[in-house]
Amino acid sequence: MAYDFLVIGAGISGAAAAYELAAWGSVLLIEAETMPGYHSTGRSAALYTRNYGVPVVRAVNAASHPFFIDPPDGFAEHPLLTPRGALTVARPGDEGLLDPILALSSPGNEILPVPAAEALRLAPLLRPDQVALGLYEAGVMDIDVAGLHQGYLRGARRRGVEIRCDARVSGLSRHDGGWSAAAGGEILVAGVVINAAGAWADEIGRLAGARPIGLIPKRRTAILVDPPAGGGVESLPLVEFAGDEAYFKPDAGKIMASPGDQTPTAPQDAQPEEWDTAVLVDWLQRHTTLPVARVGHAWAGLRSFVADEAPVVGFDPEVDGFFWLAGQGGFGIMMAPALSRAAAGLIAGSGLPPDLGVPAASLAPARLQT
Ligand SMILES: Cc1cc2nc3c(=O)[nH]c(=O)nc-3n(C[C@H](O)[C@H](O)[C@H](O)COP(=O)(O)OP(=O)(O)OC[C@H]3O[C@@H](n4cnc5c(N)ncnc54)[C@H](O)[C@@H]3O)c2cc1C
Repeated sequence: MAYDFLVIGAGISGAAAAYELAAWGSVLLIEAETMPGYHSTGRSAALYTRNYGVPVVRAVNAASHPFFIDPPDGFAEHPLLTPRGALTVARPGDEGLLDPILALSSPGNEILPVPAAEALRLAPLLRPDQVALGLYEAGVMDIDVAGLHQGYLRGARRRGVEIRCDARVSGLSRHDGGWSAAAGGEILVAGVVINAAGAWADEIGRLAGARPIGLIPKRRTAILVDPPAGGGVESLPLVEFAGDEAYFKPDAGKIMASPGDQTPTAPQDAQPEEWDTAVLVDWLQRHTTLPVARVGHAWAGLRSFVADEAPVVGFDPEVDGFFWLAGQGGFGIMMAPALSRAAAGLIAGSGLPPDLGVPAASLAPARLQT
């Protein structure tokens, strides 16, 4: 067998899994694009939010926190998390919409009510007539996504992982207790295939003869706009409105904003639609005093979900040696440290890490395949 493990997809999920799996055998990490991180991983909002997602996601996020705070020596040159804070605003008449968000507050991850004046102090570019009450969550952090992704790739190489780009897996066949994969004009042989292909995970499953997990990629748009004259936006929190999907936050001296769209789409190199950008610019003009004279840069990425919005981590119940690491939705960066340890534990036979706090069945692909 040429490799013990073939990891398909060098986004954050595949890179982190390759890093963890290197402790258990030889690993080939293979990527269709010319560089790792070209798809969802390079297009995120870079946020770490403990009180976000379904309970399984929140448990996985909590289990990722220690790695972010204290990564192994030499893993990253800068802190992986830096404080951002999140302000959720209710417009006049919408105050009741804050109650379900307040209910997510938990010890150590408090969400606190703030009066309108305090909300406007935290985010002075909000239009005062749009702000009746706010909630503030101090624990929301910015993630250094490039630092985390490069840390995993660099660390994986140091541990002996081979990384090949520009090699799209186009065929998988099972033989002699292992796999042959056609990719980049070569046939690669491995014992276990790890499907970390992001939005393409069901396509890779099909190549392996597995039943689909019902993955739906959903497009989300983002733009960068100039800060107000005088700048000074770096201390702004993430700002959202209760009952709205749109949000904005500072990003390297500019404002990054998203309409929070979730348009189901086929796996692809997602591009922003003019309509979504126009809706967002209108929203920014109604809720903030930002001039939004021009959109500096617009992009879109895919957040891929299964029906219960929890990730899919486990061996396929019917196809031997085929492992799913998919369905990371809008949380794949923040979940990567714990999900990769979970994947390595299940593949190596040592089981789920005890600190994960979720049963294997809640992650298993079998819960979705019919
Ligand atoms: C606008 C936006 C905002 C987001 N904000 C956040 C956030 O704040 N926090 C957070 O945690 N998450 C966020 N996310 C979600 C996060 O970006 C994803 O969950 C995460 O990047 C998924 O990583 P991945 O490695 O699974 O997928 P990807 O990064 O898409 O990687 C999959 C890789 O597989 C490769 N591949 C596919 N098919 C093949 C093949 N046949 N052969 C070889 N390679 C193949 C692809 O080329 C791709 O590089 C956001 C996403 C978007 C779009």
